[in-house]
Amino acid sequence: MKITHVEAIPFAIPYAKPLKFASGEVHVAEHVLVRVTTNDGVVGVAEAPPRPFTYGETQAGIMAVIDGIFAPQVTGLDLMEREQIHARLSRTVGNPTAKSALDMALWDAMGQSLGYSVTELLGGFTDRMRVSHMLGFDSPAAMVDEAERMRDTYGISTFKVKVGRKPYHLDTAVVRALRERFGDDIELYVDGNRGWSASESARAMREMADLGLTLAEELCPADDVLGRRWLVEQIDVPFVADESVVTPAEVTREILGGSATAISIKTARTGFTTSRRVHHLAEGLGIEVVMGNQIDGQLGSLASVAFGSAFELTSRRAGELSNFLDMTDDLLAEPLVIRGGELAVRSAPGLGAVIDPDKLARYRQN
Ligand SMILES: [Mg+2]
Repeated sequence: MKITHVEAIPFAIPYAKPLKFASGEVHVAEHVLVRVTTNDGVVGVAEAPPRPFTYGETQAGIMAVIDGIFAPQVTGLDLMEREQIHARLSRTVGNPTAKSALDMALWDAMGQSLGYSVTELLGGFTDRMRVSHMLGFDSPAAMVDEAERMRDTYGISTFKVKVGRKPYHLDTAVVRALRERFGDDIELYVDGNRGWSASESARAMREMADLGLTLAEELCPADDVLGRRWLVEQIDVPFVADESVVTPAEVTREILGGSATAISIKTARTGFTTSRRVHHLAEGLGIEVVMGNQIDGQLGSLASVAFGSAFELTSRRAGELSNFLDMTDDLLAEPLVIRGGELAVRSAPGLGAVIDPDKLARYRQN
């Protein structure tokens, strides 16, 4: 089970409908497929979705750091030397998405080599998650229509509404329209991507106090330290830290500092090895967890559901697993299917991901 080869392959797949939110918008999935080969001929795969406006990583940067820094550090190691691999990748600060894709490809290869699914290797709590769908910026009518389509087509009944526009009435009007259309049949929560100030967030949350929101995520920047603490103290739902908690140390700082009361785990930025550390930390701190989405394709979503299903704490809430529905195509030979509002893990060893060679040839960029 020795690592002999690591590849970072760029590919681009257009979105049928661009996703718009307070920190950016995405029209084309310009991702990186990471492929790890062992001396037994096993090939593990994972997907890196760069988010330049959030983490500063680009597609070219992810390829360069994997090819130039990470691949030489892990080549020749055994797949089971997981803490050695983790320590070597951790020498480099930042680059969360690049490290995570490599880490997940290694776990996929390990699962295939050992004959267990990644979910079984991690914890094996369950085999599926309920799905939460993310509604990007649009008019209230268009966002209600999209929620209706997701409910009717896929049985999804949990929605995360992107907020953070100015003036904030643009967003509160959307949440109100959704609640009026669906009543108590749906769960609603909001994500501001740091778009509002603490005081704008407080006013917006007061205006939505009667709408039964279950979570509020990253409404204002974590660097507004005292403002955010002031905000978190006065709202009556868990305040989810997302892009402000990329490492276990940041989780500790935000939670113990009173700047958040829940966290989002994204396998795209903490892989399986660090996501597991973050999960254990969250369990120890006694805080809620949401499995988030870094606008992953199908391979990334398969990784998210594989991790989320492994533990009781991560599978309790609906996971954000549906962004791939907005892409025009994908690399997987067998597409993911959301049915009855749920996405199931694959029982095949590893992640159960088979890349379609024709699709890879069509979308790869080198
Ligand atoms: Mg978020």
